[in-house]
Amino acid sequence: MRQVMVAGNWKMNGSSDSVKELMAGIKEGMAAVTKAEVVVCPPAVYIPRVSGAADGSAIKVGSQNICDEDKGAFTGEISADMLKDTGCEYAIIGHSERRALYGETDELVAKRFAAARRNGIKPIFCIGETLEERESGVTNDVCSRQIDAVIALEGVEALADGVIAYEPVWAIGTGKVATPEQAQDVHAFIRGKIAALNAEVAEGVRILYGGSMNPGNAKELIGQADIDGGLIGGASLKAEDFLAICQAAE
Ligand code: PEP
Repeated sequence: MRQVMVAGNWKMNGSSDSVKELMAGIKEGMAAVTKAEVVVCPPAVYIPRVSGAADGSAIKVGSQNICDEDKGAFTGEISADMLKDTGCEYAIIGHSERRALYGETDELVAKRFAAARRNGIKPIFCIGETLEERESGVTNDVCSRQIDAVIALEGVEALADGVIAYEPVWAIGTGKVATPEQAQDVHAFIRGKIAALNAEVAEGVRILYGGSMNPGNAKELIGQADIDGGLIGGASLKAEDFLAICQAAE
């Protein structure tokens, strides 16, 4: 039985004060969240503060990226060890904004996945197609290619150490959510693809949906057979909305 998961990607939002307030709000509502694994991914500079605030609660902390190297002359990068040292258990990897705006290729994303894995951080591995790709009918090919990069480097068993997040790029931050059927189709494809290589990994790996998920649509999306939770952007910045999604997930 796969545990449902709700992860908040705060992106480049927040301040010392707002992060404190958001964490206090989420913490307060956590008593009503008994089944979902809840993760928050703040901007890197706030990770120590957020980890401190999460102490004594079931809230877990993740980063929004991770360096593919372990140590040394990589200005501006943050290593897996540093993330672990400041309380991270998870790291978002291959978010479409990183791929589109910062040129992260499938190969680099796979190397970041590998760095997380060898250092005991669980990757939240993001994949998904653009609107153009969907309209050209290549959604499954794109997801397949992105997953294959990780499989080529680390083997299919590696997927068991992380979580996959299917995030159609056209649904991220746009308010245009995939229908439950559209999302389920791709999730089923992803699980089927993995099952063809390793049935046990496919059965156990959690596949989250991300893209304009909110308290109004979460229940139906997460209710689909192959959708095991959500990766939430905008709606994770309001404690009330984030908690409502966590409750819908249960
Ligand atoms: C995201 O950036 O991962 C995301 C899902 O954003 P939003 O929920 O705002 O669409």
